[in-house]
Amino acid sequence: MKDALRILHLEANPSDVDAAVAALAAEGIACEFLRVETRADFVAALEQSRFDLIFAEYSLPNFDAPSALAIAIEKSPDTPFILVSGTVGEQTAVELLKKGATDYVVKHRLFKLPIVIRRAFREAAERSERRRAEEKAEQNLQRIRALHEIENAIAAALDLSDVLRLLLEKIELFSPFPVVATVRLLNRESGEVEPLVCRNLDEAEWRINKKRTPSGRAKRICETKASLVVRNIQTDPQTFNQEVYRQCGLVSFLGVPLIAKGHSMGVLSVYTKMEHEFCQEEIEFLYTLADQAAIAIHNAQLYDGMARANRVKDEFLGVMSHELRTPLIVLLGYIGLLKDGMMGEVNKQQENALEKLLACALDEINMINTIILTTQIEARTITREYRSLELSDLLDHLRSTYKVQTDKKDVKLTWSYPTAPARITTDGEKLKQILHNLINNALKFTDKGTVAVTVRALAASKVDQGSELSSLDSYDASKQRMWVEFRVTDTGIGISKETHRFIFDKFYQVDSSQTRAYGGVGLGLYIVKKFTDLLGGQIELESESGKGSTFAVTIPSQS
Ligand code: ADP
Repeated sequence: MKDALRILHLEANPSDVDAAVAALAAEGIACEFLRVETRADFVAALEQSRFDLIFAEYSLPNFDAPSALAIAIEKSPDTPFILVSGTVGEQTAVELLKKGATDYVVKHRLFKLPIVIRRAFREAAERSERRRAEEKAEQNLQRIRALHEIENAIAAALDLSDVLRLLLEKIELFSPFPVVATVRLLNRESGEVEPLVCRNLDEAEWRINKKRTPSGRAKRICETKASLVVRNIQTDPQTFNQEVYRQCGLVSFLGVPLIAKGHSMGVLSVYTKMEHEFCQEEIEFLYTLADQAAIAIHNAQLYDGMARANRVKDEFLGVMSHELRTPLIVLLGYIGLLKDGMMGEVNKQQENALEKLLACALDEINMINTIILTTQIEARTITREYRSLELSDLLDHLRSTYKVQTDKKDVKLTWSYPTAPARITTDGEKLKQILHNLINNALKFTDKGTVAVTVRALAASKVDQGSELSSLDSYDASKQRMWVEFRVTDTGIGISKETHRFIFDKFYQVDSSQTRAYGGVGLGLYIVKKFTDLLGGQIELESESGKGSTFAVTIPSQS
C-alpha cells in the first residue's frame, strides 16, 4: 500500500480520528486525515482535493452518513466510503452498504480498519479494472461498427469524398477530444501530396495553405511508407511554416501512409489541439482506417480509369464509324457509278469485278455497323423509340430490300403476312434490325431450299400455349396485350441442340471452321436477343443439326 493515504474523515470527535490514525499506524499504514463535520465542509473538501478513502460516522449534530454517501457517490465515485461508527445497528449499516458504502467498522473494533481498507482497495482496483475492460470492449465495438459503416459506404460505391468524410468522422472514436484530420493524395506527376478532404478545419483556407507550402512531411511518409509522429509541429524545426499551425492551433501530428497494392497513394493525418502522445493503439486504429481509405481511393481511381478507357473506346468507335465508314460509302457510290456505266462503258468482265467489289464493301459496312451497334448496347446508350406503325408497311419495306438477290444460291425467300391494316406500337427500326439479322443468317446458312418469313398475331393469354388468332385480320389494337410473332424458317445447315444455349452470346459462332467459310463476326444473334428484350419480347429457337432452323420472335403489339 502506498504511504501517507489521504483520508477524509466525517467525524465530530477529534479523538475518534486519533484512534483511527493509531489503528492504522499499528499496521504501518501512514495517513493524512482531514476531519470535517458539516455538509459544507464535506462538499468543499471533495471539490478541492482528491482522497484515497472516506471514513464517516453515522450521525453527526448537523449531518449524517447517508447524505454524505450520496454526495461522495456524485463527487468522487471511485473513493471507498467506509462507515466508522459507534452507535449504528447492524440493520442500518447494511442499508448503507446497499446504497453504495464500501464497508463498515464499529468504533470499538478499530483494529479491523487495516483489513477493511486493504479489502476496499482491492475491490476498488478490481472495479476500475472491470470498468476499464468494459470501456475498452465498448470502444472496440464502436470501432468495429465504424469500420463496417465505412466498408458499407465503400461497397455502396458512394462518392469518394463522402466515404472519406465519413472515415475522418470516425477518427474521433480513438480520441477523447475533437481532432483535426485530413486526407491528401499523392500526385504522381508533380510528386506533391495534394489536399483531398479535411475535418474540423476551414477547408478553403486549408487548400490555400497547402498550395503555398511544400508537402515535405507528407512526401516523406509516402516515400518511406511509414507513419510519422511529431510531438509539437509548431516548434518542430522540420515544420516549413510554423505560423500556419500556430494560427490553426494544431499541436501534435500523426500521419500514416495510404497504401494500395504496395504503392503509396497519399497520407491520412491527424492533428490534436493539445500536446498529445499518440499511443500504439491509436496508431494501429489509424492504420486500419488508412487501409480503408486506400481501398476507397483505389476503387475510385479504378473506376475513373475504366470510365476513361470507355471514353477512349467510344472515341475510337466514333472515329471508326466516320473514318472507316465514310470512305466505304464513297467507295460504294463510285462502284455504283462505274457499274451503271456512268463513267464509260463497262464490259461483262469489269461488271463482274465491280459486283464483287460491291458485295465486299457492303459486307464491310454491315460489319462496322454491327460492331458500333454492339458497343452502343454495351454502353447502354440505345434507347427505344416507340411509334405507332402499320405492320404491313414495315414488312413491305423490309421485303423490298431483298428484291435484288445477288446470291447465286438456289434459295427461295418467301413472305407470308396479312395485308389487312394492323397497327402496332413498337420501335420499328429495332424490329427491322432483328428481322434483317435473322433473314440474313437464314440466307447465309442455307445453300438450297427456302427461307420463309411468316408473321401472325397471338392473343396474350395464348402466347405461352402458342395458340394463334385465326389471322392478323382479327387483330384488334384496342384489345390489351396482343402479341405479334415473326418466324424465320430455313432449310439450311441447322444448329445442334447443345449449342442452343450459347447461340445468343456475344461473338459466339457454332463452329469456327464452318463459320469461317460463311463469314460473320458472331454478333448478329446477340443484337437480335438484346433488341428483342428491349422491345419486351421473347425469342425461341427450333433447330437441329442438318434439319434447318426456325427463329421465332414474339413482341407485344403495344408498348
Ligand atoms: P454470325 O452470323 O456473324 O456468325 P450470329 O450471331 O448472327 O453471327 O450467329 C452466330 C452463329 O449462330 C453463327 O455463326 C452460326 O454458327 C449460327 N447460326 C445463326 N443463324 C443460323 C441459321 N439460320 N442456321 C444455322 N446456323 C445459324
